[in-house]
Amino acid sequence: MEAPPQINVGALTIALLTDGFWRNDGGCMFGVVPRELWQRNHPADEHNRIRLNLTCPLIIKGKDAILVDTGIGNRLSAVERQIFAHGEGWLPDALAALKIEPGDVTYVVLSHLHFDHCGGIVRRRPSGRLEAAFPRARHLIQRGELEVARGSRNERLRAAYRHVAECLEPIAGLIEPIVGTREIVPGVKALVTGGHTTDHQIVLVQSNGQHFAHLADIVPTRSHMKGPWNQAYDLDPLRTMEEKAGYLNRAIEQRWWVSFAHDDRVLATRVNNDRGKMVLSDIVDCREPVAEIE
Ligand SMILES: [Zn+2]
Repeated sequence: MEAPPQINVGALTIALLTDGFWRNDGGCMFGVVPRELWQRNHPADEHNRIRLNLTCPLIIKGKDAILVDTGIGNRLSAVERQIFAHGEGWLPDALAALKIEPGDVTYVVLSHLHFDHCGGIVRRRPSGRLEAAFPRARHLIQRGELEVARGSRNERLRAAYRHVAECLEPIAGLIEPIVGTREIVPGVKALVTGGHTTDHQIVLVQSNGQHFAHLADIVPTRSHMKGPWNQAYDLDPLRTMEEKAGYLNRAIEQRWWVSFAHDDRVLATRVNNDRGKMVLSDIVDCREPVAEIE
C-alpha cells in the first residue's frame, strides 16, 4: 500500500488514514434530503447504497501518535461484510506504510461508539479471537457515550450499539472515560458536540496559528456541510446543525484544515466562503476536482 497523504499543521503532522471504502443506505445518510438531490454527488447502487470512506486521521507529535476513530476493522461476519461491502479493513496496512507499528499508537480517540468508528479497536485473529488492535494506546471515550452504549434499554439505541460489548471487552484495561473537553497532548483537544449521539466528540488540532479539525459524524461528507443535510441516525439533528455551522464558520475564517468521517473523495480540505456559498480548496486525495457544493 502507498503511504497515506500527510498534511502539516504547524509543528504537527497529520496522516489521513482510511480503513477502506464501504457502502451504506443513501437515505439513512441524508435524512430529510430527497434522493433527487443527494444522488447527484453520491450515486446509489442497486441496493440503494452509496460509497463511503472510513477516514481516520493519525496525529503525529513527537513520540505521540493519536489515532482518531478506527473504522470498521475485520470483525464483521461474512453476511455483514456483504451488507456493507467492506473487507478486512485497510488501517493496519496504512499504518505499516507509514512504518508505524500498532503498538506505537499512544492514543485512540473515538468520536462515538457506532460500529463504523470503533470496529477497528479490535482485530480478529485467524483463531477467531478478538484482540486489542492498539495494545498500548489509551482509548479516550466520552463517559456518557460509554454509558449509553453499554446500558440503554431503548430499542433503537440497543440496535445501534449491539457490537459494543464485543469491541470493548478486549480493550477493557485500555479505556479511559473522559467528560467534556479534554486536552490530549498540548495542541490536540477532544471536544463534545453532541448531535449525532448525545456525547459525540470531535478532535481539534492547533499549532503555530494553524488548525485542523476532524468533524467525524457531524459532517460525514462534503455534502453534509449544508445545514439541513444530516444523517437520519442523528439523535438531535438541530444540535448537529448548530455545532457544524459554528465549526465551519471558524474553519472558513481561520483557514482550518477539516476532514470528514465518510467522504469517498475528499480526505481533507480547506473551506472558503464564495459569495455565501461554501467551496472547497486544497483538497487532499480526490479523484476529480470537487469545487462546488451544489
Ligand atoms: Zn459514521
